[in-house]
Amino acid sequence: MPKDLDQYLLDTFEEALRGHYIQVYYQPVIRTLTRRACSFEALARWDDPVHGMIQPDSFIGLLESHRLIHKLDSYVILKVCKRLRQTIDEGFCPIPVSVNLSREDFEMCDIFSIVDSHVSEFRLPHHFLHIEITESMFADNPELMRTVIDRFHAAGYQVWMDDFGSGYSSLNVLKDYTFDELKVDREFISAFHLRSRQILTSVTEMAKDLDLHTLMEGVETEAQFQFLRDIGCEKVQGYLFGEPMPYDRLIDHLRRIGVPLELPKDHVYYDMIGRVNVLSASPFMSVEQRFNLSNARELNSIPLSIVEVCPDTTRFLFYNASFENIIIKTQWGSAIIDPKACGATSTASLPRRIYTMLEETKVSGDAKLYFVSDSEYYVIQSRLIAAKDDAYSVLLRLDNLSQNTDVSRMNTLDTEMRHIYSVFDRITLLELGEDRITPLYVGTHDEKVASSDGIQNAVELYAKEWIFGEDQEIFLRYYEAASMDERIAESGRSCIVDYFRTLNQHGQFSWKQYLLIRFRPSCVFSVIRDADEDVQVMRQRFLTMYPSKPRGELTHGRLWKSLIQSDIGRLYWKDDQRRYVGASKGFLDYLGLSSIRSILGKTDEEIGWHLLSDHVLHNDESVLREGAVIQNVPARFISGGVERNVRYSSTPVYNEYGHVIGLVGSLSDQESSDASRPDHADPMRHDGLTGLLNARGIDEALSVYCDMYYLRRIDFLRVHITVEDYDSITMQYGFSHGDKVLSALGAALSRLYGNDALVG
Ligand code: C2E
Ligand code: MG
Ligand code: MG
Repeated sequence: MPKDLDQYLLDTFEEALRGHYIQVYYQPVIRTLTRRACSFEALARWDDPVHGMIQPDSFIGLLESHRLIHKLDSYVILKVCKRLRQTIDEGFCPIPVSVNLSREDFEMCDIFSIVDSHVSEFRLPHHFLHIEITESMFADNPELMRTVIDRFHAAGYQVWMDDFGSGYSSLNVLKDYTFDELKVDREFISAFHLRSRQILTSVTEMAKDLDLHTLMEGVETEAQFQFLRDIGCEKVQGYLFGEPMPYDRLIDHLRRIGVPLELPKDHVYYDMIGRVNVLSASPFMSVEQRFNLSNARELNSIPLSIVEVCPDTTRFLFYNASFENIIIKTQWGSAIIDPKACGATSTASLPRRIYTMLEETKVSGDAKLYFVSDSEYYVIQSRLIAAKDDAYSVLLRLDNLSQNTDVSRMNTLDTEMRHIYSVFDRITLLELGEDRITPLYVGTHDEKVASSDGIQNAVELYAKEWIFGEDQEIFLRYYEAASMDERIAESGRSCIVDYFRTLNQHGQFSWKQYLLIRFRPSCVFSVIRDADEDVQVMRQRFLTMYPSKPRGELTHGRLWKSLIQSDIGRLYWKDDQRRYVGASKGFLDYLGLSSIRSILGKTDEEIGWHLLSDHVLHNDESVLREGAVIQNVPARFISGGVERNVRYSSTPVYNEYGHVIGLVGSLSDQESSDASRPDHADPMRHDGLTGLLNARGIDEALSVYCDMYYLRRIDFLRVHITVEDYDSITMQYGFSHGDKVLSALGAALSRLYGNDALVG
């Protein structure tokens, strides 16, 4: 009969594919942390009109040996992609599906391209399809496997190792190839005795150390589930949560047993949590930190050692880094680490007590010793490991019990420290060597100085925002990291001080004292506090000591300087060729320019600043050639990707011979105060989310561009950018996430191109 069945299956295989006798069943994978279904596995079934339901065991191997399996797998992959697309189209959020591949798939066809073309055809995000492969597939052609796995990875698919532990080379394959998830063979859980539980525990730990997710197959009982959850195994699959079944039936089934589907946005979140190794003695250590460990003794955070006691000596056979950390910090520690100190002849009281404890351990198997040293509480626990005629060895664990007391003392200190803080505006730690800046305390202003971009950047940002324009240059020099150490050292004291006018919370500049205190090489506290009083006192003293001419005269230079450094005037000036020579801070701010550099020496046309620049040109010419004064002429500037309606005025600048050498102009809003700022932009022409032009705004602008082209042959370029994955982004992560993508893209485009192009 089996022989006949084999032949029958081979004969009717093509027909079974065509007639859809071959079906895809799905089995849920459950996340142990949440008891939600986080993926499905696609498994083939052959529902034959003659023989009824046939299980994979009867046909997978057969198709493999007759080199037909790739046809089945391509068919399953196509069905799975169709199913995912259908779910999306019905408005649901699917969870990923894993498909099984066979070795022959890699040899008979370009399986990667088949998967990838179906995924593209149905417009699916790549992480919706996972690839399962087994270790036996690596036996014959490891290089081919590596190439294909790399291609899957590069394209964004997860590759899982199926049936881990079922073959002879599981560990070798793990060593040589990168996988995302380990599916442990169900043999390990089906025999649920101590040894298999220990193996599962170790495999889970190992997988986490290798940064692999863990999935246990064949989970049939609640007890198995609980055990797996407790050892930190992330996912389970098995009859406990459902056997493989048709998709619709599975969805019903999960609803009935109260197992919801995981939301896509939670995948990454729980995957991150799953990386924590709850069994580890050093769970705070990340996988990366583990990799960087130079020394295995650092792996365990519990202070451990093994002591061997011989009649005339006592010595440590082993101690780990945390143990060493405690004992080298203490006097008694160095005493017990000294082989003789701990011996029977020792007179020091603590080593003596430790020795007594060791002897007690030898007799009773274990012991405990509490003691106080340097006003810290310790406990040593011991256990006899082995003994022979003339020696025995004891495992020691040493804990500092006063660490809790430390915490409460720290808290009191912290409260006291706060009084100190209140005197200062801001305390910042500068680590010059590492180029790191860390705000320790920020008083009056809520904002934080960014620490990630290095000291220079943070200082520049701060200066720009808070320091009075005239003081900025000295300020930057004062905070220059490269020379700071040296300057403080040169001062002969551990600190230097300077005063800068700083914007206060009322929007005015007041004097502040900036102290740089060096407490060890390359480490500096920057401390800022009010200096108004100091400065008043100093000024008083100065004035009485050196009476002189009034220093506060309103010279032209001073007036002009304050005007262009303020926000009140949006001023610009051009040379007689209409090229920008300079502009006030207000002008630059208004048009969103960070410096004059980008427009210096250019005309309006060269900057591409206007849609219709004719009248600007015309008016500038009459100012420069005829000495005309232009007042409040409307114009439109492109800025931030949108047009702004402004009015401008300009007047000629004369030299001492009365020749016009340039012009100075000012901008004002056409509408009332802030009406043309992008965030208050005309809602009819602007998009509420991004502040850029909406469809209508683009249409209007485009017609102007077209006119310019037909009338004057001025070229323009229209660029369309499509976010291909936008639909799947909103579908998976919600509209707010899609909005974020659009806003970020819009902001980037208007930052890059918004000064000479419209962005919609
Ligand atoms: P697999 O990939 O390891 O699939 C898991 C197998 O374990 C499935 O058997 C599933 O029904 C079974 N199983 C799941 N939970 C439990 C449980 O709690 N207890 C027990 N005793 N069994 C459980 P199935 O569907 O018979 O598939 C057998 C194997 O056939 C699969 O092993 C896979 O290697 C292969 N296979 C199935 N479908 C395909 C396919 O479309 N393509 C390829 N290449 N191989 C497939
Ligand atoms: Mg599988
Ligand atoms: Mg399996």
